[in-house]
Amino acid sequence: MEKEPLLMLPGPVPMPERVRYAMMRQAINHRSAEFGAVYADCVRVLKTVFGTTNDLFVISGSGTAGMEAAVANFGRDKDIACLVNGKFGERLFKISQRYGKAHEIASEWGTPLNLAALEERLEQGVQVVTLVHNETSAGIRNPAQEVGRLARRYDALFVMDGITSIGGDVVEADKWDVDIAIVGSQKCLAAPAGLAALSVSTRAWERLSKNPPYYLDLAAYRKSAGGKPMETPYTPAVPLFLALREACLIIEEEGIANRIARHRKMANAVRAAAKAWGLSLYPKIDAKHAYSNTVTAISYPENIRDSEMRDIIKKMGIIIAGGQDHLKGKIFRIGSMGAVGAPEILATLAATQHALKKLGYKVQGDGIQAACEVLA
Ligand SMILES: *Cc1c(COP(=O)(O)O)cnc(C)c1O
Repeated sequence: MEKEPLLMLPGPVPMPERVRYAMMRQAINHRSAEFGAVYADCVRVLKTVFGTTNDLFVISGSGTAGMEAAVANFGRDKDIACLVNGKFGERLFKISQRYGKAHEIASEWGTPLNLAALEERLEQGVQVVTLVHNETSAGIRNPAQEVGRLARRYDALFVMDGITSIGGDVVEADKWDVDIAIVGSQKCLAAPAGLAALSVSTRAWERLSKNPPYYLDLAAYRKSAGGKPMETPYTPAVPLFLALREACLIIEEEGIANRIARHRKMANAVRAAAKAWGLSLYPKIDAKHAYSNTVTAISYPENIRDSEMRDIIKKMGIIIAGGQDHLKGKIFRIGSMGAVGAPEILATLAATQHALKKLGYKVQGDGIQAACEVLA
């Protein structure tokens, strides 16, 4: 029997059986009490996961659609400061360039953000700040609370990509003064790919663009969500909503605090293995930045070819990620998002340790043992 590969990627991630089965059914009318209840369940749970009491909408489209909705509705023709220390920060900058006057505040990928430069921009009057909380491309967690504090002090809107932190790490959108927070379905929520959710603060609504996009017009989403039954403006990806509802109920059953603790433990196990092998984690963190608790980026040792290593691991039925863009061949990334537990992490680390040795790297110590000590 051909077994499905185990996806240890920073999205998409394996989906619990209940989530998969939720999609296998006859079509339902999206203008019905039944669909309204599905959408309401998603919104109720996601608000707790975001740490918000603001409005929250689910849109049909991947995480990037959520990023674009945020910028297009609230950043059009505005001065936007974009903090960038990885691929997704760059993406928010590129989106911002399409809609407003974007100012990139760049750091090397995986290195601390330049918050002094942000403050200068804020003094010059930028109206919107964008940040990726958990920069998936580099495995670094950025100081969202501090960025939120700065943005609020200068009365700028704060747009936060929480696509790989929400549901897997601590996010307190309201306490951190996040005006628009965004999540994607196929990351820590362990739902199928194709949905994004965004929360919108009252301050943000007051500054809504008078020239909004059509499909992603958030005022239209607000109007439809306020009806009885709760609806979306256009036909939503109904099967994905059914699956997302199940994923949300699973999160509610686990409890968000437990879920975050589990993610942290899994990432700690991966980090412990890397350390035992004598490999370096890719990000260069400081007191304000941290290693990601949902994806671990590890630098390749000399003379190990990325394609060869990931092929060996793939032959054992496990898929891990390489680096993106200029980090291709320089790092590999192990996702610990969603429903993963010790069995998946241990299998992945065992396969990785084997591949490292097979390709001639002399591991300093036993990474599996080190991981077990974290997990046991
Ligand atoms: C995956 C991801 C996105 C969105 O990607 P999609 O492919 O559009 O879902 C955005 N930001 C971060 C940090 C991500 O990891």
